[in-house]
Amino acid sequence: MKVCQQLLSRAFSHRVNSYAVRRTTSDIPATGSPKAGRWSSAQSASFCSSSAEDRMAQPSMLKHLSSKIRSTGPVSVSEYMKEVLTNPVTGYYVRKNMLGADGDFITSPEISQVFGELLGVWIVSEWMGAGRPEQLQLVELGPGRGSLAADILRVFSQLQSVVGGASVSVHLVEVSPALSRLQAETLTGKRNMEASSEDDPVYRHGETAARVSVSWYRRLEDVPAAFSIFVAHEFFDALPVHKFQRTEKGWREVLVDIEPADPDRLRFVVAPTPTLASSTLVQADERRDHVEVCAEGGVIVQQLARRIEEEGGAALIADYGHDGTGTDTLRGFKGHQLHDVLSTPGSADLTADVDFSFLRRMAGGGVACLGPVTQRMFLKNMGIDVRMQVLLRNCSDPSTRKQLISSYDMLTNPSKMGERFHFFSLLHPSRLGVPKKPQGLKLEKKSPALLPVAGFTELSF
Ligand code: SAH
Repeated sequence: MKVCQQLLSRAFSHRVNSYAVRRTTSDIPATGSPKAGRWSSAQSASFCSSSAEDRMAQPSMLKHLSSKIRSTGPVSVSEYMKEVLTNPVTGYYVRKNMLGADGDFITSPEISQVFGELLGVWIVSEWMGAGRPEQLQLVELGPGRGSLAADILRVFSQLQSVVGGASVSVHLVEVSPALSRLQAETLTGKRNMEASSEDDPVYRHGETAARVSVSWYRRLEDVPAAFSIFVAHEFFDALPVHKFQRTEKGWREVLVDIEPADPDRLRFVVAPTPTLASSTLVQADERRDHVEVCAEGGVIVQQLARRIEEEGGAALIADYGHDGTGTDTLRGFKGHQLHDVLSTPGSADLTADVDFSFLRRMAGGGVACLGPVTQRMFLKNMGIDVRMQVLLRNCSDPSTRKQLISSYDMLTNPSKMGERFHFFSLLHPSRLGVPKKPQGLKLEKKSPALLPVAGFTELSF
């Protein structure tokens, strides 16, 4: 782990006072249920319900879904979730800035910059482990406000002496035009512009102050093929899941229908006969009585695995979830409260726990998978304690000290985010010493010395 230690001390030694208070974690209710996964901000209660946009969007989303159900019958939970979250006009993610102190929930990169800095060190360490390829694409799926990418890029510039030789570019996969504007502001200030044609796969492009190129895409498949480190933080939980119920007649899909007694309400029903999804997506040896399958997440992981296998690189997926044991985890979030999944669709976030065992299965045998390990373990292995000690030693302002300690507690405390969130990684098999396939590998010019994978192995200082 020497390399990771050296990167940490190089990245942070000369900027010990550069910690900026990003969020006051006292905004976050101490009683927030870890079961909920998402952490919400106490200031957010009025955000959803008071917005005029919201009042208009809710009935139109309900109307849209009802007319669809009336014409073609009940829709799958996956279709419902997809419409509610990413409908191009009224979708939750498309319309709202749901993140941070003024939004519906708060995420680790928004709590402390230290989170993104440690991920930045992980990325540099993996790039080094791959033999320092000339090109380094940072690809983030679902970048939210752009804070994580900004923190990672700051580490790259602190480690200029290490990364300087590589041509770095940033590629953001974001479905929400509104959030892409926010990300552009965070990363490039005014140095960005929208594409002139809607057909352009790069719908926005810009440049950071340090002249790093930043491109926005709607879909992962549009990101150019090259050595890439993929990061997905709280992205997979936002993807639509199918729900299946074991019945006496076998597996049946759960669907969303109109409540017969009240046409303004929706209800869950169990399909009377098998659907294509229930016949193909449930494992033959499944033992649970209720399962959720995120087919879209499976396809994305397959794409990541294929890219890593062919072009080199790694993926770091961080989210709340389980390893094949979860059952009914779909839930809604509005304000800082759990919210009925079927009520006022489009006004609340919908989320389901990530099934890491499914992601591992979908990744296939061409890549190596590590984890899931708890966020607490990953951050501690990455040296969060040492980083915090240095920051505290150099900080005399009592309120910043308090904020540092509470954000550390929020990120690592087992009863807060520490054990609820997990890290999972896809790696090129050569990273773990698995013999190289005879063909299809383009990246290694020199054979890299095998470095341990940071974060997943204990780091001793
Ligand atoms: N990673 C950020 C934001 C998490 S919220 C953080 O941790 O703070 C989920 C993010 O994924 C949002 O940016 C949302 O707009 C984006 N998103 C959701 N579904 C998506 C999809 N199907 N394709 C691309 N982006 C999506």
